[in-house]
Amino acid sequence: MQRRDLFRLATAAATATSLPRWGWSATLRQRDLFPLGVASGAPTEDGVVLWTRLLDGPVPGTVPADNPRTALPEALTVRWEVAEDEGFQRIARSGQAQALAALGHSVHVEVNGLRPDRGYFYRFMHGDAVTATARTRTAPPAQALPGRLRFAFASCQRWEHGHYAAYRHMLDEDLDLVLFLGDYIYEYAMPKTPARETLVRTHTLRVAQTLEDYRDRYALYRSDAHLQAAHRACPWLVTWDDHEVHNDYVGLQGQGSPAAFQQRRGAGYQAFFENMPLRASVLAHGPGGLGTPDGVRIYDRHAWGQLLRFHVLDTRQYRDHEACSAQAPRGGVSPQECAELHDAARSLLGQAQERWVEQGLSQDAAGGTRWSVLAQQTLFSQRNHRRAPEQRYSRGTWDGYPASRQRLLDAVRRTPPRNTVWVGGDIHQNCVSRVLADFSDPQSPVIGSEFCGTSITSSSSVTREQAQRLADLNPHIVLSRPDQRGYAVCDVTPQRWTTTLRVLDDVTRADSGITTQARFVVQDGTPGPQSV
Ligand code: FE
Ligand code: CA
Repeated sequence: MQRRDLFRLATAAATATSLPRWGWSATLRQRDLFPLGVASGAPTEDGVVLWTRLLDGPVPGTVPADNPRTALPEALTVRWEVAEDEGFQRIARSGQAQALAALGHSVHVEVNGLRPDRGYFYRFMHGDAVTATARTRTAPPAQALPGRLRFAFASCQRWEHGHYAAYRHMLDEDLDLVLFLGDYIYEYAMPKTPARETLVRTHTLRVAQTLEDYRDRYALYRSDAHLQAAHRACPWLVTWDDHEVHNDYVGLQGQGSPAAFQQRRGAGYQAFFENMPLRASVLAHGPGGLGTPDGVRIYDRHAWGQLLRFHVLDTRQYRDHEACSAQAPRGGVSPQECAELHDAARSLLGQAQERWVEQGLSQDAAGGTRWSVLAQQTLFSQRNHRRAPEQRYSRGTWDGYPASRQRLLDAVRRTPPRNTVWVGGDIHQNCVSRVLADFSDPQSPVIGSEFCGTSITSSSSVTREQAQRLADLNPHIVLSRPDQRGYAVCDVTPQRWTTTLRVLDDVTRADSGITTQARFVVQDGTPGPQSV
């Protein structure tokens, strides 16, 4: 389907909150059509997106392939309620929404007219089936300076690599928000040679390529009880990385012929929209299909009053090819051997998004936002793998796009926001850094703080010794630990930012305990993480 048709459908489905009775579909009774749970996201000061997706029969990937699912009708009507109380006595908003086959029977409700800075309960209903009651909240008013925001950020949750015990522990963190930074699904079939990695869970899905494949993959992941509980606890902000399509794809370049890849990318993007609490407006841009250069615009800003603003970036969709990938497709790259690495025209964000970030940061500087957060997928700070003056860098992180990184650093330096903090994922390691104004000059000033978080489950092949060696070679790196899975909690007040790195005892166990690996603070007006 073309994007404009999808956009029209999605917008109509998300905003027509009250259908005439004659428009309601037939009701399927005595069936639980909500095995994938519910979610909410993208809170504003007066609204939030509510999400669910209907499915009948067994969750794909968990049963033999000869046990087929029941096909649902083209359209099914669900009812939804948002209430001030858990007993749904004081209803704030309610309505009906359509779950359409064309959108994978997902439901997105863009609720507005809510009061700022307060918690709500919500649920969906169809026939005699009712979802579990979930919590969400609105953001504080634009002009207010709230005393506190407490959020977690997470990334990389390969299903077969572990249990989602991390999400069970998030329930105890009293969070306003969860920020998910990419690799929500992994597209792989089960590895045939499990010797290289520990496989904790097994599924029967083939490698995801078609829209149906991606839909099935999200259904498998979303069937997890711990993940569902984390979505029920608070609203999420989401962005993607590579595995929502396939490993290491770059912009419009991926596996197969250009046409086949474009189709696959479009399928991955549509399934991402269908399965995330996103506004239909992310589909609004450009004339072509979802796989074409205009793609789906998921980069966006989210304010928490004057306290904080998230600039949620997309470092995957618009990036240029990796430097010198034609000559040597794998491994690190050195600037002596690869002139292309420093080509100023290369970008990780694309020109339009680079300008958009710079504008946003100067708005923050002018408007007095306390904390500007660059929420993106991967490691931002430089990591030289060799002893200086020798140099060797990863290609797939910001290290592979140094000119693009320097433009962003220059923008922060030119019109400094009050405080700039980078959060990221992708590398399956906890990595905490001082962000330097110019990483090629170790004496240059610290202008920000970076917290790159470890994975929820996805394994790392890097040893502790290797990670420590990198930290020793790059003195701006203050912590580097690849061996533990978990998430980070950020407690933000006008005076202080505190990041707590939470790590599981054992990712192979659903009942794993959790401990604090390290804690850092950033004081207002003093860039750089300090260990506490
Ligand atoms: Fe990952
Ligand atoms: Ca990744």
